[in-house]
Amino acid sequence: SPRFKNVAAKLKEVLPEELFNLIKEIGKFADERKVNAYIIGGFVRDLIIGRKNFDVDIVIEGDATVFAKELAKRFGAKVHTYERFKTATVVFKGGKRIDFASARTEVYRAPGALPEVDMAPLKKDLMRRDFTINTLAIKINEKEFGKLIDFFGGLKDIKDKKIRVLHSLSFVEDPTRILRALRFATRYRFELGKHTERLLKIAVQRKLFKTVEGQRIYHELKQIFLEDNPLRVMNKLEKYRIISSLFPSISWDRFKKDLFERIRKVIIWHKLNFPEKETKYHILYFGALFLREPLNRVEKYIKELAVPQKEAELLFQILKNSLPLIKKVRLAGKNSEVYELLQNLPEEFLLFLAALPQDEETRNRVLNYLKSWRFIKPLVNGEDLKSMGLKPGPVFKKILSKLKYAIIDGELPNDREEQLTRAKELVDAEKR
Ligand code: ATP
Repeated sequence: SPRFKNVAAKLKEVLPEELFNLIKEIGKFADERKVNAYIIGGFVRDLIIGRKNFDVDIVIEGDATVFAKELAKRFGAKVHTYERFKTATVVFKGGKRIDFASARTEVYRAPGALPEVDMAPLKKDLMRRDFTINTLAIKINEKEFGKLIDFFGGLKDIKDKKIRVLHSLSFVEDPTRILRALRFATRYRFELGKHTERLLKIAVQRKLFKTVEGQRIYHELKQIFLEDNPLRVMNKLEKYRIISSLFPSISWDRFKKDLFERIRKVIIWHKLNFPEKETKYHILYFGALFLREPLNRVEKYIKELAVPQKEAELLFQILKNSLPLIKKVRLAGKNSEVYELLQNLPEEFLLFLAALPQDEETRNRVLNYLKSWRFIKPLVNGEDLKSMGLKPGPVFKKILSKLKYAIIDGELPNDREEQLTRAKELVDAEKR
């Protein structure tokens, strides 16, 4: 039987006030519609562990799509529903998104199996989940707001710092859980439960990954690469011989480990300096994983994993061109030559270059391009050139580029008067 505890005060303490109030309102709305509503999954896990997480997933004992549509109407929010899965996303006025799912009431049963004991829809829903730490739920209906529901001992496992599956066939049912187990274990510094570890080893031995769609493996690897420290997860995967099971030709060697660490540092730097940029950081780690593999083999892996087209192209570009390009950067003369080599490359490519092992000077060239050179604009513009009597045309771009390169090379100061003088010289030279 489940154990109960109330976490209403904790919710109030850690959530932004607006979100807390919103959740209370959703609970009251559930009362009106006479359905039970619960926050479930990662949010609850992280609330107990004390990790910041404002991704709220709500399960409705009933039809979540109907519920979400009515809720959106009441709150003047937008709603997207997915009838096939009976799920919905509501986007509230401030931009806050909340996902809704329907607790499944239908039962999958083998023909002739004994009738199932009547079980709450919520419990049935939670039973399909990966690990006990992900099975906690918080009721949000007004009368029982904040009641923590723990059917499978998730609370104790969080206290004991253990990752445990719910049943012995869990990894057989879905081998991607092997990757998820080690990702969560690393993130929270938890251990696998003894039985869970045994089951995981058996699942790897039986090569169960072969039975999984490649794109699901890709999705979980991507999740790993979006963690704070993918290197540590990879070392765990290596410990259980999972990397070679997924990619037989790849050895998890010193070079790759170092590169993973360098990429991690570059990403931290980049997030700090360009927080607004949407960067596919996981591609850098896929690049590191496959670097120095023959391209036809990489092609095979990419196909097996069903990597989305755009990401596959980016990855290929990195694998094919980064080593030759970094060599050119090293051999270039002036800064502006480096600029020409690097301009218009995707952000991920540039970051990969910055992470490659190389001498200090070459690395600084890439970093200077990322930090400053690419943003340099002359203080002289087309209007100025026009007023010097130059006819608009491709020559404009040529002169403005020359000015830019002179600034990048440190030959022209960031001073409008001086730049105008130089522009005038260039215009006169063109006129002649
Ligand atoms: P985070 O987003 O912090 O990595 P999360 O727990 O929210 O963690 P998701 O991958 O978004 O992770 O999954 C949401 C929930 O769905 C999880 O809490 C988990 O219980 C369930 N889940 C996801 N993948 C599986 C799976 N392969 N098998 C069973 N349950 C799963």
